[in-house]
Amino acid sequence: MPLASLRPRVVVIGCGFGGLEAVRALHDAPVDIVLLDRTNHHLFQPLLYQVATAGLSAPAIAAPVRHLFRRQGNVTTLLGEATRIDPAARQVHLKDGAALPYDHLVVAAGATHSYFGHDEWAAHAPGLKTLDDAFEIRRRVLLAFEAAEKEDDPARRAGWLTFVVIGGGPTGVEMAGTMAEIARHTLPGEFRRIDPAAAKVLLVEGSPRVLQAMPEDLSARAAALLEKLGVEVRTGARVTGIDARGLEVQPAQGEPYRIESRCIVWAAGVAASPLGHQLAEGTGATVDRAGRLVVEPDLSLPGHPEISVIGDLAAARSHVPGREPAPVPGVSPAAKQMGRCAAANLLQRLASRPTRPFRYRDYGNLATIGRNAGVVDLTTPLGHLHFSGYPAWLFWLFAHVYFLIGFRNRVVVLFDWATAYWSHNRYARVVTAIEPATVDR
Ligand SMILES: Cc1cc2nc3c(=O)[nH]c(=O)nc-3n(C[C@H](O)[C@H](O)[C@H](O)COP(=O)(O)OP(=O)(O)OC[C@H]3O[C@@H](n4cnc5c(N)ncnc54)[C@H](O)[C@@H]3O)c2cc1C
Repeated sequence: MPLASLRPRVVVIGCGFGGLEAVRALHDAPVDIVLLDRTNHHLFQPLLYQVATAGLSAPAIAAPVRHLFRRQGNVTTLLGEATRIDPAARQVHLKDGAALPYDHLVVAAGATHSYFGHDEWAAHAPGLKTLDDAFEIRRRVLLAFEAAEKEDDPARRAGWLTFVVIGGGPTGVEMAGTMAEIARHTLPGEFRRIDPAAAKVLLVEGSPRVLQAMPEDLSARAAALLEKLGVEVRTGARVTGIDARGLEVQPAQGEPYRIESRCIVWAAGVAASPLGHQLAEGTGATVDRAGRLVVEPDLSLPGHPEISVIGDLAAARSHVPGREPAPVPGVSPAAKQMGRCAAANLLQRLASRPTRPFRYRDYGNLATIGRNAGVVDLTTPLGHLHFSGYPAWLFWLFAHVYFLIGFRNRVVVLFDWATAYWSHNRYARVVTAIEPATVDR
């Protein structure tokens, strides 16, 4: 029987951007790490919309966690879902009834969709967060065209050929642009009774502009590029209801109206993992409106230096000497930087040295619009650098390929994009489970 290790036990919940980076940073540390995730893969979420729109297949943007850490001897990978954390007993409880003891805990469980109190909308407007979500959206998009091909009634056919994306952030913009590409360039010539190019793609955003996190000129440029692709951009339009056949919209001015649509995608709201509320109850920590845990400058929970919370689940602030602490956005570079900071602080604690406050280095924002346009807002030491169009798309493409995990994934993605670029085709179009999208919901 193996002797129990005397080294500190570190449990990391979640192998997204934050968890992955924290575990990597503990590569040579004298600790025993258990890396727990409810899926068996690390997912590169920024390219998830490509799976949802049949441009890439799942293995191109996801890598098995077990394989990623095969050479890191201090890591044990476990597949399981954390349902409860008991800070008093220092244990993580799993859905299957098991319990994992820890000396140090890093919680990196990320975020989920928020339907602003209307969870019933989820059935009609799936959000995009996991591979399963992407498969479901891909299924709905492709099967809507199939249903339209079979439909004789013009009004009902129009419903199948109206695609609505709710939320004008980067995911919504990227989804809408690519849906328009599919309708205009991929599918024409493949159907006999309908003209896929006649499909309507609408982007509905409640605030006055798309890409709120970007400067106004880039928002305007993005909206213009979307319109050029054939996307109808409706800003200042608040969604008040969603059902199986469409949505209700309240514009900033004027009467509410209805859009008949059988394929709606939700890209509007994000809420932190439910583990946040559970952990707050157990530790007395506070959560913000999005359910994120308010953390100390060093990313630990108040009164619990043994628990660090990172990534989308943390309401963290960036601490730059001489400046007011600033909120950290929910983006992948922030999650990765927090993962490295939490790991470094864990090592500081093990050595009985003081921890350091988290400092976020913002490199800017980017989004792609269709197959050869984008917008980029880079933060440089000399200030912000804006550009758009084809150079921005190329920059976006190489940045995303560079940050993909694993050499194989980079090669696969570059190859798939190159072929899709020249042929306009989208190969990952196999869908199973044909019902119920084509039946009359
Ligand atoms: C569609 C989409 C597009 C995006 N595009 C961009 C972009 O272009 N640029 C950018 O910077 N950011 C982008 N983001 C945001 C970015 O992906 C997140 O900020 C980042 O993933 C946060 O990292 P994280 O480690 O906190 O969480 P995640 O990366 O979400 O990882 C959380 C992990 O925890 C696991 N998990 C969750 N709950 C449990 C549990 N109870 N038990 C066990 N495991 C659990 C999950 O399976 C997952 O592996 C995008 C996000 C989405 C959804």
